[in-house]
Amino acid sequence: MFKPDNVFAALPGDFYTKMPPEKAGTAPHLVHANAKAAALIGLDPREFSTPEFAEIFSGHRPFPGGEPLAMAYSGHQFGAWAGQLGDGRALLLAQLRNPQGELWDVQLKGAGKTPYSRFGDGRAVMRSCIREYLCSEAMAGLGIPTTRALCVIATGEQVHRETAEPGAVITRLARSHIRFGHFEHFHHTGRHEQVRLLADHVIETYMPEFSGDHAAWFGEVVKRTAHLIAAWQAAGFAHGVMNTDNMSILGLTIDYGPFGFMDAYEPGLICNHSDDTGRYAFDMQPAIAHWNLRALALALSSLIPTPTLIAALDTYESLFRSRYRALMRAKLGLVQDRGLEDDKLIAELLNLMVQAQGDYTLIFRGLSDPGEAWLVLFSSVQVEAAVWLARYRVRMAGEGDQGKAMNAVNPKYVLRNWVAEAAIRAVEDQGDSAPLDRILRLVQSPFDAHPGDDAFAAPPAAEYGGLCVSCSS
Ligand code: AMP
Ligand code: MG
Repeated sequence: MFKPDNVFAALPGDFYTKMPPEKAGTAPHLVHANAKAAALIGLDPREFSTPEFAEIFSGHRPFPGGEPLAMAYSGHQFGAWAGQLGDGRALLLAQLRNPQGELWDVQLKGAGKTPYSRFGDGRAVMRSCIREYLCSEAMAGLGIPTTRALCVIATGEQVHRETAEPGAVITRLARSHIRFGHFEHFHHTGRHEQVRLLADHVIETYMPEFSGDHAAWFGEVVKRTAHLIAAWQAAGFAHGVMNTDNMSILGLTIDYGPFGFMDAYEPGLICNHSDDTGRYAFDMQPAIAHWNLRALALALSSLIPTPTLIAALDTYESLFRSRYRALMRAKLGLVQDRGLEDDKLIAELLNLMVQAQGDYTLIFRGLSDPGEAWLVLFSSVQVEAAVWLARYRVRMAGEGDQGKAMNAVNPKYVLRNWVAEAAIRAVEDQGDSAPLDRILRLVQSPFDAHPGDDAFAAPPAAEYGGLCVSCSS
């Protein structure tokens, strides 16, 4: 069972504020809990239905052995230094060792104000909790590094955003919630000893193979970040708010806000409606991650010589490109490497998708067995798509049957905005968590066919068109 090991709470006091959760609402009740995430911390799913469960994971009852705290961090938001931010509505309840000896953070989001709340209310709305809950598990299902989600608890209170909305608390699990912004926090206030202490904490706790070698460790952070972004680009995932405080030092996807999986392929997709300049557009993500790594490098400049930092930053682009290329080749089932000829084939397919506004996920999924129905996905450029397909078939002639391998990398189910919205509406309007349960199962095993659930693999119908996703979560 739980073996608390609150290592972050043992760091000096300027890393956090220790405090119990503020207890949002008065009548917490379980909306949904996730057996797969529970297994990560050795929690028995039979606990889900106990009254204590909803109380603990809404902050109404202390977590056994926990040492709750709000973390201090800073960050760059939309390219500008924002100064101190911190856990304004998140609270690290406890850190646990699971039966495999892995350390996991248990963190509430939406349980109330902290000293870092600034002008915020410390709350989270049901809508954004369900989106984060489903998307973290969808990313895990795709094999993309991410924070996980244990449960969503309704608080029973209304939270005021553009309109009044039902409030909720989500419990996140992650090996660590430490962000690039944690390092910036200490660097930009001249506390270089704390930068070193934090780096050594991360290395000793999560990456002991880099013990005593800060430079090699930073190289690993660059690599993990490059590989993470390559996975996002290949999956058609736009994060939406890649501020440095939303970048995980372990290379996890973290802080799900106005994210989106592409329906129609659109490289310039901006999924955050507060992002006026398109700084965080889909096709900007690789360059923005590099920008964020530079901000992290600056924050580590008291620890690692500048030429070493620059050399590590310079590895980013080729690490990203080679991983992205490998992922895209796998999506097409290209095993033998024919260099530029293959690159051209991939680029031309993406180009046709742009022209057709074709559905990114459906087109790749259909590529393992592309018939007439597949060509229809290309609407006005079906003739061109047929020409491409003929060339692709020739190219694949010597590759053997790649269908199975392709279906293991091209998901049938991603968390489309309309699918998340269907789960949210059922919970909010009918108090019905059955669609949420069903969608969770689909996105947790997105490569399986799930016959009978085909409707959830479809592009948005008109009734869900034009969904606006804002930062106000
Ligand atoms: P985010 O955009 O969710 O990554 O949040 C950026 C910063 O604003 C973090 O320091 C959050 O803790 C804080 N924040 C966001 N929403 C709220 C809220 N409703 N109450 C308090 N702090 C918040
Ligand atoms: Mg954040």
